[in-house]
Amino acid sequence: MDFRCTDCDQVFSVTTRLWRCECGGVLELSQRPRFDKDKIDPKASALWRYRAMLPAIRPENIISLGEGWTPIVSAHAYGISFLAKLEFLAPTGSFKDRGTTVLVSFLKELGVQAVVEDSSGNAAASLAAYCARAGIHCKIFVPASASPAKLAQMRAYGAELIPVEGPRENASLAVQQAAQGSYYASHVYSPLILEGTKTLAYELWEQLGGRAPDAMLFPTGHGTLLVGAYYGFRDLLEAGLIEKIPALHAVQAEACAPLYRIYKENLTELPDLPHGETMAEGIRIRRPVRWRAIIRAIRETGGSVVTVSESEILAAQRELAHQGLYVEPTAAVAVAGLQKMRPHHTLTGRGEWGEGGTGEGSGERSLIAVPLTGIGLKAPSQSDFSDF
Ligand SMILES: *Cc1c(COP(=O)(O)O)cnc(C)c1O
Ligand SMILES: [Zn+2]
Repeated sequence: MDFRCTDCDQVFSVTTRLWRCECGGVLELSQRPRFDKDKIDPKASALWRYRAMLPAIRPENIISLGEGWTPIVSAHAYGISFLAKLEFLAPTGSFKDRGTTVLVSFLKELGVQAVVEDSSGNAAASLAAYCARAGIHCKIFVPASASPAKLAQMRAYGAELIPVEGPRENASLAVQQAAQGSYYASHVYSPLILEGTKTLAYELWEQLGGRAPDAMLFPTGHGTLLVGAYYGFRDLLEAGLIEKIPALHAVQAEACAPLYRIYKENLTELPDLPHGETMAEGIRIRRPVRWRAIIRAIRETGGSVVTVSESEILAAQRELAHQGLYVEPTAAVAVAGLQKMRPHHTLTGRGEWGEGGTGEGSGERSLIAVPLTGIGLKAPSQSDFSDF
């Protein structure tokens, strides 16, 4: 296994401390393992059932807290039925644990003893937990905007927090300097993260009895879950286990929607957007690092990018809570996106709607799956909810 630059094709050893190429490009695995259903290990803990399809790590170095293999329950919104995959039941309360378990196990295998990171939210909370478990020192540069509940969680796991004044970008600059003497365990840049998030697709295929959903919606910031799921479904397609990759839809908050701009206007460069405020803090991302891979996955699968307003996010959060599903605003974004699919797009990319119950009797019912990415308990402003 090697890393390769997605821009200039330069190859790097996996032991490199470079977190991106000298040319500025992002790194990916030069070769990804193939999917082999006979190699699934149902006795293994959680997503490590797919260990044969993950980067090779010795058993003693696997750092797992039981992440993955999350339940699927039915839910509905705007008259559309969908399957909710309960990613918020992960050990630290968000899907980020899928990527972190692979990344931290890989770092343990490399013998890394200290890492730095600059996320203000779920990615850092997840990293702090797995580093605690692995005995790896974890230093996090946190922007002033970080949410108090998530900071408390990082601190509880024993992470060292370094406050950084000014906008979010200042924390990124600080961590990039610190990375010279440490390992930058970035959820955004590390190719290992996508190896973890791809298991979402494998699980859906297994849990649905050997089929893929027809469409999926993701709250999308840097796109690690969307692109990872795309890889996972492509693996299943190449193994001849599914006929088609689901239509992958990205949902963004109106206030911060660079992918929407790129998609709508066919841009070939990242637009320079103002700092937009949204309660969906997990996707308040102005410059998504893997935007080219996100747009490619969306176009290739017949998906789309849509935006939702702040009041639509709150309404979707409430709608889910009234079905017993308590998620943070960022997670509700994906469900709010369901109402935007009509009339401009079809959800499944094939002219079907998959509306609640309509498929019954017709023999074919389109399946829409939505990962509910983060738990409501550490949401930034619980008080916003009291109006309901
Ligand atoms: C990080 C996060 C997202 C966005 O994930 P990306 O990989 O950046 O697209 C969505 N929901 C929650 C709860 C998150 O923590
Ligand atoms: Zn390069």
